Amino acid sequence: MSAKIDLAKRVSNDEILDLMKNASLRELGVMANAVKAKLHADKITTFVVDRNINYTNICWVDCKFCAFKRKIDQDGVYILSFDEIDAKIEELLSIGGTQILFQGGVHPKLKIEWYEELVSHIAKKYPMITIHGFSAIEVNYIAKVSHISIPEVLKRLQKAGLSSIPGAGAEILSDRVRDVIAPKKLDTREWLEVHREAHKIGMKSTATMMFGSVENDEDIVAHWDCLRQLQDEYQGFRAFILWSFQPDNTPLQKEMPHIHKASSNRYLRLLACSRIYLDNFRNIQSSWVTQGSYIGQLALLFGANDLGSTMMEENVVSSAGVCNSMNQEEMIELIKDVQEYPAKRNTAYEILERF
Ligand code: SF4
Repeated sequence: MSAKIDLAKRVSNDEILDLMKNASLRELGVMANAVKAKLHADKITTFVVDRNINYTNICWVDCKFCAFKRKIDQDGVYILSFDEIDAKIEELLSIGGTQILFQGGVHPKLKIEWYEELVSHIAKKYPMITIHGFSAIEVNYIAKVSHISIPEVLKRLQKAGLSSIPGAGAEILSDRVRDVIAPKKLDTREWLEVHREAHKIGMKSTATMMFGSVENDEDIVAHWDCLRQLQDEYQGFRAFILWSFQPDNTPLQKEMPHIHKASSNRYLRLLACSRIYLDNFRNIQSSWVTQGSYIGQLALLFGANDLGSTMMEENVVSSAGVCNSMNQEEMIELIKDVQEYPAKRNTAYEILERF
């Protein structure tokens, strides 16, 4: 490491870049753990029992890193009916679940009325379930196709029962990178705009990062910088989650076969740097879905304080050939194994049950 970092002060972009390039994995782990210990002195590590519901796989956006989407005229396309969605929620309730994560492809024709009806149907029938859903690209496109503004989309969905929005689609908030991996997707300014508008009306969200495609370390710092600045404005992000690009079955892998899956070492280094840099984010999730349960557990020693979801259903990462799974009991064991205290939480990170 070329310079000693004072963790009592906000870490600058130059400092974090220096750490990314020069610190050892062990040094990063020690620093990230120290930052985490200040924020989570009770040593509680949380998880949520929820379910992803990918309501459609139809998508016009064509992100090159995506193995999930289908064009509207392709075989195997679907839009789930309300009955099918209800059946999934009933299953979730039977295992004590509290949240659904709604995420689609970006269907070219569905307008605000369809989403309002869906959300209000669930909110009325299952008031005990928190609806977390519709990432920035979905919100942005609903506004376009419905000829209304982004604030109006958010307010109407909030009124129907939408609680918060996920941070998906951030990938790397650098237009240089986005132009290569997802040229049709919203740009950095537009992604931030959706989250800023949500935060303005009191709707919380999460922030994400997908690394391991064509970005460099400077792009990653630019990404963290955007998030930290927006968090300073409204404190609207509940958590930060990073995961690595899963290349199998994706168009980007065909186009750039030299890109391989990022190593666990790289994942843990970036996780630790996130914890060190994002001083205004209380919660950072471990991405065991992409990293597997043991690296997911190790992530707790590199700054993560949450294991995310028990993931009753996962369709996006598994489309890229990665099928890790974990149930509540396994999570509890993994957390205890690193001398932390497991707890089930809700969407707002409030503790529901301790084990
Ligand atoms: S990542 Fe999302 S927006 Fe991009 S192609 Fe896949 S489903 Fe569509």
